Amino acid sequence: MSVTVQCPCGNTYDLKDEFGGKSVKCPNCGTVNVAPAPPADPAFNRDKFLLRQKAMSIKEKYYVWDEGGKVILYVERPAHFFRGLVAVFGGLVAGMVVLLALLAAAGAAGTGTLGGILSLVAFLGCVVTFIAVTATLAPKRHVTFYRDDTKRERVLEVLQDQKLQFVTATYTLRDPKARVLARFHKNYLYNFFRKQWRCSSPGGALIAVAKEDSIILSLLRRLLGPLFGLLRTNFIILRGESDTVVGEFNRKMTLLDRYVLDMSRDQRRQLDRRIMLALGVMLDTGERR
Ligand SMILES: [Zn+2]
Repeated sequence: MSVTVQCPCGNTYDLKDEFGGKSVKCPNCGTVNVAPAPPADPAFNRDKFLLRQKAMSIKEKYYVWDEGGKVILYVERPAHFFRGLVAVFGGLVAGMVVLLALLAAAGAAGTGTLGGILSLVAFLGCVVTFIAVTATLAPKRHVTFYRDDTKRERVLEVLQDQKLQFVTATYTLRDPKARVLARFHKNYLYNFFRKQWRCSSPGGALIAVAKEDSIILSLLRRLLGPLFGLLRTNFIILRGESDTVVGEFNRKMTLLDRYVLDMSRDQRRQLDRRIMLALGVMLDTGERR
């Protein structure tokens, strides 16, 4: 992609799009011109995005459509199934080693109180070692947005920041040039009552919050499960810290997993559609496992 600068002297020259919006000197006459902003990606030049998850695959795959039914993007989140198995196996081996070593020490200490305490420590140590080693070996699961399912052109990527996600999980959204566009945060404790994702700028300012549509429905979903889709999870998207609803992410009532991200209430498109679409995908993929 490039931007074209037209100098008053009549010279026309092309620059890489990272020069968009910057002052550049004409190579012909030396006049300083401001390069035009690079053209926005037409895939994101809209308010409604339809998503469908591809069923029956270990990887999570989504197609993103426009309202006319044309596929505009393809999204993939690998499961790393075999690397996950290796991680669990490594965790089991390490846990067993710790267990046997501590049980041997407990046996040497005899059947008194000390031996009893050491046996208890052996079992706890085994569990802690299993969790720590499995988590360390487990691969991170990043999400990549491609132009189409040939996967030749990357459009966006969401990186899982930590392997161990205890209370909070954070993800970083980047463009294909590795520039950070936004960060997504979720808090597992809060999520238990009402699912919520916060989205902030690279500088830390809050851009938007996605919440389950109602606290009562949230609690019913925890108690009753999805009830064949009757209690399907829907989200509202609020701008910054305000209570202004600017968008919705809704699951459609069908057998397949279909979703609609509707940002049409943000009429002036103040919220970057790349960030909102990535948030929408995380509301689904980041909530299941
Ligand atoms: Zn010139």
